[in-house]
Amino acid sequence: MGAGPMGGEVADLARPMPGRAIINLDAITANIALLRAKAGRAAFMAVVKANGYGHGAVPVARAALAAGATWLGVAQVSEALAVARALGGLPDGARLMTWIIGANGNLRAAAQAGLDVGVSTPGQAEAVAVASGEAGAATRVHLKIDSGLGRAGAPPAFGQWEALVRRALELEADGLVKVVGVWSHFACSDDPGHPSVVAQLEAFQAGVDQAQALGARLEVRHIANSAALLTRDDVSFDLVRPGLAMYGLSPIPDLASAAQLGLVPAMTLESHLATVKRLPAGHGVSYGHLYHVPAGVGPAGSVTATVPLGYGDGIFRSASDAAPVQVGGRRLRLCGRVCMDQFVVDLGPDSTAEAGERVVLFGPGLDGEPTAQDWAEAAGTISYEITTRLPAHLPREYVGGVGNR
Ligand SMILES: *Cc1c(COP(=O)(O)O)cnc(C)c1O
Repeated sequence: MGAGPMGGEVADLARPMPGRAIINLDAITANIALLRAKAGRAAFMAVVKANGYGHGAVPVARAALAAGATWLGVAQVSEALAVARALGGLPDGARLMTWIIGANGNLRAAAQAGLDVGVSTPGQAEAVAVASGEAGAATRVHLKIDSGLGRAGAPPAFGQWEALVRRALELEADGLVKVVGVWSHFACSDDPGHPSVVAQLEAFQAGVDQAQALGARLEVRHIANSAALLTRDDVSFDLVRPGLAMYGLSPIPDLASAAQLGLVPAMTLESHLATVKRLPAGHGVSYGHLYHVPAGVGPAGSVTATVPLGYGDGIFRSASDAAPVQVGGRRLRLCGRVCMDQFVVDLGPDSTAEAGERVVLFGPGLDGEPTAQDWAEAAGTISYEITTRLPAHLPREYVGGVGNR
């Protein structure tokens, strides 16, 4: 039995559970090998924020470190501390980076734990420096340039990038921080022809040059997420930061599927049939009666069944009456509204299905089952959100990755 999302034991699988996510760590290993080959000599940061995009941050981190990742990345300091604790510390030479500094930044704990921290403003650099002073350990910081995304980071405009670099170098001279990186993030890397991509690369390079001219001695420059790494050859610099593609999902589904990219989706989400019964032709199904048993099913009606997963378990309500599922090797559509704890499938008039039969919501797609990308299209979202929204209470079971869990 595998470890839970943050390293604890999963719930007893003998208990009736609504469903489970099976995570194939060998798929993650293979995806990392493909991505590392694209990254050339650059180091590899496995992005395991949001509980490893729903896959479980700690087992994924272990598999990634075994596959040659030397960096782990998460958003929050609290996530980083939880991952580091569950791993029992990082292997020699490995680094753990965090980049969202909120009101309760927990920066002293970050300094004590030796985390790498991304900073976007002189005020953040100062807060990190104060915390480092209290902890008695200089924090390694990566200065974030807003090369065009317009989110976090210091933009070159109005001297803001220069001000961040100058302040961080002053704090470094005081022994409070160590400026180790310059980094950035793309706005439109999933649209490779978008003019912002090249403009951002140029702004990034100019920002690196300026930081070095001001005296920064950089260990790493990094900008590439999954889409950038998969669509361009000039974005790896010293370190790449893929998330989604490592989990085997395509960040550019309109241009290339996961299979076309050579990626293997790591997660299979499965459940089972709960209540199986017959409903007559014309009978409405689930809230709002969005679906009715078709008129043509004949006098014996149609076999319908509930599946005990709902939006309380991360199943998108916006996928109502649209998302595909696989039952007994057959591809079916989810019928009517997704409810809080269940949804309904119509198995047809001739079905002999019984309660307990396995239902696959999505998986790698190698056996006719739908994929997380299919669910994303049905729900009107992106595959990132399909796996990331799966809650902690949903059991995860791990296969593969033997020897590194
Ligand atoms: C989430 C994230 C990534 C990974 O992005 P993907 O599109 O999943 O590859 C990389 N860098 C930063 C700063 C991120 O927040």
